[in-house]
Amino acid sequence: MRNPFQTPMNDTPPARVLLEKLLDRVEAFALVHYLDAHGIPVSLSEPPLRSALGEIPFLETAAELFLDDPSRWNDARALIDRYRSGASAVRGTVWTCSECGERHEPEFGECWSCGRVRS
Ligand SMILES: [Zn+2]
Repeated sequence: MRNPFQTPMNDTPPARVLLEKLLDRVEAFALVHYLDAHGIPVSLSEPPLRSALGEIPFLETAAELFLDDPSRWNDARALIDRYRSGASAVRGTVWTCSECGERHEPEFGECWSCGRVRS
Protein backbone atom coordinates (compact mmCIF):
# COMPACT_ATOMS: atom_id res chain seq x y z
CA MET A 1 0.00 0.00 0.00
CA ARG A 2 1.27 3.39 -0.93
CA ASN A 3 2.07 5.85 1.79
CA PRO A 4 -0.64 8.52 1.42
CA PHE A 5 1.80 11.17 2.64
CA GLN A 6 4.40 10.37 0.06
CA THR A 7 4.54 12.64 -2.93
CA PRO A 8 4.62 10.86 -6.29
CA MET A 9 7.87 11.22 -8.19
CA ASN A 10 6.40 13.31 -10.98
CA ASP A 11 4.93 15.84 -8.60
CA THR A 12 6.55 18.87 -7.11
CA PRO A 13 8.74 17.67 -4.25
CA PRO A 14 7.43 18.40 -0.78
CA ALA A 15 8.26 21.93 0.28
CA ARG A 16 9.97 20.80 3.42
CA VAL A 17 10.48 17.83 5.68
CA LEU A 18 10.59 17.55 9.43
CA LEU A 19 14.14 17.08 10.68
CA GLU A 20 13.37 16.81 14.34
CA LYS A 21 11.42 18.11 17.27
CA LEU A 22 13.31 20.04 19.86
CA LEU A 23 12.13 20.75 23.36
CA ASP A 24 15.00 23.12 23.99
CA ARG A 25 14.16 26.37 22.20
CA VAL A 26 17.67 27.71 22.63
CA GLU A 27 19.09 24.63 20.96
CA ALA A 28 16.45 24.84 18.25
CA PHE A 29 17.39 28.41 17.35
CA ALA A 30 21.07 27.63 17.58
CA LEU A 31 20.63 24.71 15.19
CA VAL A 32 18.73 26.86 12.71
CA HIS A 33 21.55 29.37 12.75
CA TYR A 34 24.20 26.67 12.53
CA LEU A 35 22.60 24.92 9.57
CA ASP A 36 21.82 28.17 7.83
CA ALA A 37 25.42 29.26 8.24
CA HIS A 38 26.43 26.05 6.46
CA GLY A 39 24.11 26.66 3.54
CA ILE A 40 21.31 24.35 4.64
CA PRO A 41 17.92 26.06 4.37
CA VAL A 42 15.90 25.26 7.47
CA SER A 43 13.00 26.81 9.28
CA LEU A 44 11.41 26.49 12.65
CA SER A 45 7.78 26.27 13.48
CA GLU A 46 6.32 26.10 16.89
CA PRO A 47 2.94 24.69 17.78
CA PRO A 48 0.49 27.34 18.88
CA LEU A 49 0.51 28.02 22.55
CA ARG A 50 -2.28 26.31 24.30
CA SER A 51 -3.70 26.20 27.76
CA ALA A 52 -1.23 24.74 30.21
CA LEU A 53 -4.07 23.20 32.18
CA GLY A 54 -3.70 19.48 32.55
CA GLU A 55 -0.93 17.42 31.10
CA ILE A 56 0.44 18.21 27.71
CA PRO A 57 2.03 15.30 25.87
CA PHE A 58 5.76 15.76 25.97
CA LEU A 59 6.50 16.29 22.30
CA GLU A 60 3.48 18.49 21.66
CA THR A 61 5.27 21.45 23.15
CA ALA A 62 8.38 20.99 21.06
CA ALA A 63 9.56 23.33 18.35
CA GLU A 64 9.75 21.64 14.95
CA LEU A 65 12.84 21.98 12.84
CA PHE A 66 12.07 21.70 9.14
CA LEU A 67 14.46 21.14 6.30
CA ASP A 68 13.34 23.39 3.45
CA ASP A 69 15.30 21.49 0.83
CA PRO A 70 14.70 17.73 1.25
CA SER A 71 17.61 16.92 -1.06
CA ARG A 72 19.98 18.23 1.63
CA TRP A 73 18.79 15.67 4.20
CA ASN A 74 22.13 13.86 4.56
CA ASP A 75 24.06 17.12 4.82
CA ALA A 76 21.65 18.39 7.43
CA ARG A 77 21.88 15.22 9.52
CA ALA A 78 25.67 15.23 9.35
CA LEU A 79 25.80 18.87 10.44
CA ILE A 80 23.43 18.25 13.32
CA ASP A 81 25.62 15.36 14.47
CA ARG A 82 28.69 17.55 14.17
CA TYR A 83 26.96 20.34 16.03
CA ARG A 84 26.00 18.01 18.87
CA SER A 85 29.42 16.41 19.19
CA GLY A 86 31.05 19.83 19.08
CA ALA A 87 28.66 21.25 21.62
CA SER A 88 29.60 18.60 24.15
CA ALA A 89 33.32 19.07 23.65
CA VAL A 90 35.18 21.85 25.35
CA ARG A 91 35.98 24.22 22.53
CA GLY A 92 35.92 27.83 23.40
CA THR A 93 33.32 29.28 25.67
CA VAL A 94 29.69 30.15 25.46
CA TRP A 95 29.43 33.89 25.00
CA THR A 96 26.74 36.44 25.63
CA CYS A 97 25.81 39.14 23.14
CA SER A 98 26.71 42.55 24.50
CA GLU A 99 23.84 44.09 22.54
CA CYS A 100 20.85 41.95 23.37
CA GLY A 101 22.10 39.50 25.98
CA GLU A 102 21.49 36.39 23.87
CA ARG A 103 23.70 33.41 24.69
CA HIS A 104 25.70 31.69 21.94
CA GLU A 105 27.73 28.59 21.39
CA PRO A 106 31.47 29.15 20.87
CA GLU A 107 31.43 28.54 17.11
CA PHE A 108 29.15 31.46 16.36
CA GLY A 109 30.90 34.65 15.36
CA GLU A 110 27.88 36.86 15.49
CA CYS A 111 24.57 37.12 17.24
CA TRP A 112 21.76 35.42 15.36
CA SER A 113 19.27 37.52 17.25
CA CYS A 114 20.46 41.07 16.58
CA GLY A 115 23.39 40.53 14.21
CA ARG A 116 26.07 42.05 16.41
CA VAL A 117 29.54 40.66 15.76
CA ARG A 118 31.12 38.87 18.69
CA SER A 119 33.42 41.12 20.63
ZN1 LIG B 1 22.46 40.08 20.06
